[in-house]
Amino acid sequence: MGNPEPPLDLRVVRELLRLDRNFYNSEDDGVLRETVSKLKIAGVQVLKRPSLLREAIQKFSLKALYLPDQKRILLDQALPELKHRWSEAHEIGHSVIPWHDGMMLGDDKQTLLPLCHEQMEAEANYAAGRLLFLGPRFRTEALDHLPTIDNVKKLASGFGNTSTSTLWRFVEEAHRNIPMFALVSGHPHVARRTVEFDPNNPCRYYVQSPAFRLRFADYAETHIFGLIAAYCGAQRGGMLGQGEVLLNDVNQIVHIFDCQTFFNRYDALTLGVWRCIRPATTFS
Ligand SMILES: [Zn+2]
Repeated sequence: MGNPEPPLDLRVVRELLRLDRNFYNSEDDGVLRETVSKLKIAGVQVLKRPSLLREAIQKFSLKALYLPDQKRILLDQALPELKHRWSEAHEIGHSVIPWHDGMMLGDDKQTLLPLCHEQMEAEANYAAGRLLFLGPRFRTEALDHLPTIDNVKKLASGFGNTSTSTLWRFVEEAHRNIPMFALVSGHPHVARRTVEFDPNNPCRYYVQSPAFRLRFADYAETHIFGLIAAYCGAQRGGMLGQGEVLLNDVNQIVHIFDCQTFFNRYDALTLGVWRCIRPATTFS
């Protein structure tokens, strides 16, 4: 493909690799009549004897699959459309990694997360990230943008990816030497918390830049979520607010972070960026 401009067109990738893509619906037998016996999830063989693909998909709540003998990717129709893109790129990853070849691989919610560290899944997720963010291109563009939620959204639409996966990558990859974190959570405002809200586990994801992990890793996500919730308004969507958050590093020096939270009606996305060491207060 040379060096294509973003957003990457996955249809072209599939054509070049001669991969076929199909959608299934777990109720419908159509594409799922096939019998499988060697399905692997996260590299572990899960079926001992042949069974119908449909049963396997239901039993293991699979969201996506790769069938090597047919060079075919199967995606759960029920996945939101923007998430198809990550799942498809992940399955393309399985298809191009030589030692995944010949294995029928099934993916559930867990294995499709960028942080999944089972070796095969980590490899497929790495491939998905490199594909959808066009190798080094994303980092170069991200470095040209100040770390703000607005710019993350701009990059997300430029690369055709979700704001969540873009925020994730922005924090992990872009400004590697700046302490930065991201939270993906439900609405932080007390009045807007849903029944699924769990105070002990308030965030879907808590992503830390390498520089943050080095100096601020002691903070639990519950603590940071509490600080964020303090400045968030109860708006139904859009920007929920911004504020200064103080965090102590491993040497007990106090640092100021600028934080912003945006609610896209599904997830609240928070970006926290290091500003400076808190100046000593002087009295005169
Ligand atoms: Zn996988």
